[in-house]
Amino acid sequence: MTTPTHCDAIILGAGASGLFCAMRAAERGLRVAVIDHADKPARKVRVSGGGKCNFTNLDVSPANYLCANPHFVKSALARLSPWEVVDFFTGHGVTHEQREHSQLFTLTGAGHLAGILVDRCHKLGVTLLLGRKIEAVDRPGPFRVSTGGEIIKADALVVALGGPSWPQVGATDLGFRLARQFGLEVVRPRPGLVPLTLAPGDRERFAPLAGNALPVTIGCGSVRFTDPLLFTHKGFSGPAVLQISSFWRDGETLTIDFLPHDRVADLIETNRASTMQLGTLLGQALPKRLVPVILAESLAATEISQLSKRQMEDAAGRVHRFRITPAGTEGYAKAEVTVGGVDTAHISSKTFECSTVPGLYIIGETLDVTGHLGGYNLHWAFASAAACAQGLPESRGE
Ligand SMILES: Cc1cc2nc3c(=O)[nH]c(=O)nc-3n(C[C@H](O)[C@H](O)[C@H](O)COP(=O)(O)OP(=O)(O)OC[C@H]3O[C@@H](n4cnc5c(N)ncnc54)[C@H](O)[C@@H]3O)c2cc1C
Repeated sequence: MTTPTHCDAIILGAGASGLFCAMRAAERGLRVAVIDHADKPARKVRVSGGGKCNFTNLDVSPANYLCANPHFVKSALARLSPWEVVDFFTGHGVTHEQREHSQLFTLTGAGHLAGILVDRCHKLGVTLLLGRKIEAVDRPGPFRVSTGGEIIKADALVVALGGPSWPQVGATDLGFRLARQFGLEVVRPRPGLVPLTLAPGDRERFAPLAGNALPVTIGCGSVRFTDPLLFTHKGFSGPAVLQISSFWRDGETLTIDFLPHDRVADLIETNRASTMQLGTLLGQALPKRLVPVILAESLAATEISQLSKRQMEDAAGRVHRFRITPAGTEGYAKAEVTVGGVDTAHISSKTFECSTVPGLYIIGETLDVTGHLGGYNLHWAFASAAACAQGLPESRGE
């Protein structure tokens, strides 16, 4: 593809937000060039949702996002509803299913959804420059991007470079570096929606459970999620743990309720006269191997009819308020998102333009906005992209 020397907007990053923004801007008649170092666009979208892409959520709301300014996401979310996202993709042949928590997954696959964005961009005349290193970005007058020994100029520059999570598909922190180059602050990035690891002693204790899953309520500070927890060889994973990982910080203790839909006190009360051991009773409600991990041997061996009030409270505490301090996370290589990112303090929540650098726009995951697990991150990529595309100045048509 020939490289234009001048266009209305240069978009850095051909991922979810970059392609959606390019498409919407081109629909308005803007001449757009998108630059990406990957040979194939939207690689992260293609691996999303286990290849099925959880592309939006019918219950999307600002409460589903982490951001230093919780109001920041409101405007963009209000202007792109989940139904508009559904209508767009189904209008181009995507079929989907609704799973629990109002999550919408494609039936036709993540690659199909990514392909639709690429096709739309091609049809609308967007210049897609793939396999291109972004060598330098500066702003002597208009923005100037050097790539592959060529220079492209534009009055508007959209940074849609995502975050550094999942580097195996080409993710980098270039978005953060460019933001700093233009004087913006970056809220300390860290891996989110990521499995947690345990210290060697705890890892050994939970090792017999690796591969088992159960519903739990997991809490960190005042935040709680009820969903499945999966025991792994390194620690804990599963939806509940991925959710809480975005809130957890080094050294913090998690509280786990291993029996969120039942009460130990009720189970004991129902069997109060029984000579059955407490461990056997709990083994009927929990994975059998979990009981010796969380309950002292002597307590597990006590007959239910012989339990003192204190022992009952102890058992209930161990099951419903189990406390554990993870050693860390499995890092960016296993993180679905990056928590933190470009501080939104100087970004317009309506147009995504930077108030201190006119013409510079930042969208998607590069910003300090992180969605919960459940289609919220792709929805944010699309919503911020749509708002930005709407806010870009009219084409100068030169
Ligand atoms: C395994 C996995 C599964 C996921 N599943 C889901 C899901 O089902 N639902 C959901 O809502 N979210 C999911 N996410 C998160 C979601 O994919 C991202 O939040 C979303 O893609 C972010 O969009 P973006 O446009 O900001 O960034 P991206 O889609 O990551 O796009 C950034 C683009 O910038 C390019 N780029 C980066 N660095 C450079 C550089 N140095 N030079 C040139 N180009 C560069 C990349 O190649 C990429 O094309 C998942 C993430 C992962 C890793």
